[in-house]
Amino acid sequence: MCGIVGYIGKKQAKPILINGLSRLEYRGYDSAGIATIEKSGLKVVKNKGRVNDLSNTKGINSLEGTLGIGHTRWATHGKPSSTNSHPHSDNSKNFAVVHNGIIENYSDLKEFLQAHDYTFLSETDTEVIPNLIHFYFNSSKQKDNLRFLDAVTNACKMLKGSYAIEVLSSMYPDNMIVVRKDSPLVIGKGIDENYISSDIPAILSFTKDFYLLNDNEFAFISRTSIDFYDSNLQKINKACQNITWNATAAEKDGYPDFMLKEINEQPKAIRETIGSRISKDSKTIIPDLNLNKKYLNTINKIYIVACGTAMHAGFATKPIFENLCEISVEVEAASEFRYRNPIINEKTLCLFITQSGETADTIAALKLAKSKGAKTIAISNVIGSSITREADYTVYTHAGPEIAVASTKAYTSQIVLLAIIAIYFSEILEKNSTKTIELKNDILLLPSKIEEVLKNTEQIKNFAQKIYKEKDVFFIGRGIDYSVAQEGSLKLKEISYIHSEAYPSGELKHGPIALIENDVTVISVLTNRLLVEKSVSNILEVVTRGAKTFIVTNQELNQEFDEVIKIPKTNTFISPVLSIIPLQILAYYISKEKGLDVDKPRNLAKSVTVE
Ligand code: GLU
Repeated sequence: MCGIVGYIGKKQAKPILINGLSRLEYRGYDSAGIATIEKSGLKVVKNKGRVNDLSNTKGINSLEGTLGIGHTRWATHGKPSSTNSHPHSDNSKNFAVVHNGIIENYSDLKEFLQAHDYTFLSETDTEVIPNLIHFYFNSSKQKDNLRFLDAVTNACKMLKGSYAIEVLSSMYPDNMIVVRKDSPLVIGKGIDENYISSDIPAILSFTKDFYLLNDNEFAFISRTSIDFYDSNLQKINKACQNITWNATAAEKDGYPDFMLKEINEQPKAIRETIGSRISKDSKTIIPDLNLNKKYLNTINKIYIVACGTAMHAGFATKPIFENLCEISVEVEAASEFRYRNPIINEKTLCLFITQSGETADTIAALKLAKSKGAKTIAISNVIGSSITREADYTVYTHAGPEIAVASTKAYTSQIVLLAIIAIYFSEILEKNSTKTIELKNDILLLPSKIEEVLKNTEQIKNFAQKIYKEKDVFFIGRGIDYSVAQEGSLKLKEISYIHSEAYPSGELKHGPIALIENDVTVISVLTNRLLVEKSVSNILEVVTRGAKTFIVTNQELNQEFDEVIKIPKTNTFISPVLSIIPLQILAYYISKEKGLDVDKPRNLAKSVTVE
C-alpha cells in the first residue's frame, strides 16, 4: 500500500520527490527511499523510518539529478528495514525499481533467477522485479528504447499479483518506464517535465493534466514525451484529463492535522456531494446511473459491500434502502463476501463503497458479483480510480481529497450519497413518496446542521482531556445509532490505540455488561425518538455500575449524565451524518492528548491495495 512518486524534467529531482513522498506518506511509512540518475550513474538512497528521516540519510546531499523515483513503504514482505526499503536494484546495479503491491509468485521467480545465478539482498517480493528486467534485457533482440521497454514488459508478463512500478536504468539516463496492474499510478504532464504518483493530490501543485493508466499499460517517459504501449510493444493512444481539484485541497490550510481539517470540511463535502442531484420540487437526478423501473422491479436483493469505515456507511444506510425501496439489503465486509460464495444472480444489485477506489478486497468482491450476473455500482471519491474501471456504474462522492488515514468526511459523504441513491430508486419505483420528500428536504439542510455540531468542539475536547488515559471504552446505540457506535469505536481504535467495543444497547445485559466497572467510559448515541426510553434505561444500567457516560443526542433527556452533546434534530435515516461528528472530534482530541500522530496511525495505511 506504499506510495510511489517520480520526476523527470529540468529541476533537481530530490526535493520534488521528497515533497511528493511526504504527501503520500499516509499510504505507508515503514521506510522511504529515492533513486536518481546522476552524472556518475544510478544512485539509491534509502532508510528505515519516515520520509523526514530520509533527509538526514547518508548520501542524500550528493543527489543532483533531474530524473528520479521515490517510495514510502507499507511492508508486506520483509520487515521494515533499510535493506528491505525501496528502491531495489538488480545484481548489476543497472536498474532500480520502486513497487506498490504484492508479487504473489515471487518465491518461484526467485528460484528461477537463483538458478540463473542471481543473488538477493532483501526479504521483499519486489527484488525479483529489477533482476527479471536485467534477465530479459540481456536476452532482448530489440534495439535502443524498445530494448528497455521489451525487458520491462517481459518481466511483467512473469509477475502474478498487483503492482505499480517505476523503473530507472543507468543505460537510459533520460527515461523512465512505469506500469500498473491492480495498484494505482497516475502520470502528471508538465511542460518539459513529467510527474508520476500513486495519487493525484500529491502532485496537484505541479500540474492538473493527468494520464490515468489502465492495467498493463506501459508508459515510456522522457522530459518532453510520454508514449504508451501495451505488453506487446504496440503503441496506444491515451487522452490527457484535466483535473479540476484545487491544489489547496491537498494542503493542511492552517490546520495542525489533515484529520481536523477534514472533520471541519464536512459541510462543504456534503454540499458538493448533494450538488444538483436532489432538489425539493423535482425528481432526483443521478446522470451516472442509468437504471429503469423495469430493471429495478426485478431486483430482490441489494448487497452493500465495503471495508472498514465504508462498510459502516453501508450499515448506516441499509434501513434507508429497505424502507424507501422495500428491497432487502445485506451489508458485508468485502474480505468475507468474496470467499463465501454468496447467492448472487441477475436479480441482485451490488453496491461497492471505497473512498480511494483502490481497495483490493472491494474490487475483488465486485469482480465476483459481476461474474455471477449482478449489476454493480461503485461509490468512490477518486475519479478514474481502479474500481471505476470495473463497475457497471460509478457514482462519486465529492468530498475532495481525504488525506488523513482515519476517514471522516468520506464516511459522511458516502452516507449522503447512498441516501440519494435510495431516494432515486424509490422515485423510479414510485414508492413512499411522503418519506422520500421529507428525506430530501432533510438532506438539503444537513450542511448547516453539521456547522452547528462543529460548534461543540471545545466541550468535546474537555471530555477528551478527562478520558484519554482509559484502557477500554464502550460504545452503545440502538438501530441506526448502533451503526454510528461501530464507526465511533473504530475511529477511537485507529488513532488513539485505546481498546474499544461497540454493542447494540439492548445486548449489554446479554454479556458485555460484565465488563462494566467503576469509572469505565460508556459512549452512547441516542437519536431515535421512539427508542429514547429504552436506550436511557440501558445507559442507567451502566451508570448504576459506576460507568462515566458521554451521550450524543438530539433528544431531551430528563436525567443528568456526565457529558451530553446536543446535536440538531434531523430525519432518523440520516442522523449518523450528525451523530458521528462528536465521536470523530472525541477520537481526534484523545489522540492529540496522547501525543500521537493523528494523521498517520501506526500499522495502518489509507488505501488498502493489498488483500
Ligand atoms: N510488497 C512490497 C514490499 O513489501 C511493496 C509493499 C507496498 O506496496 O508498500 O516491500
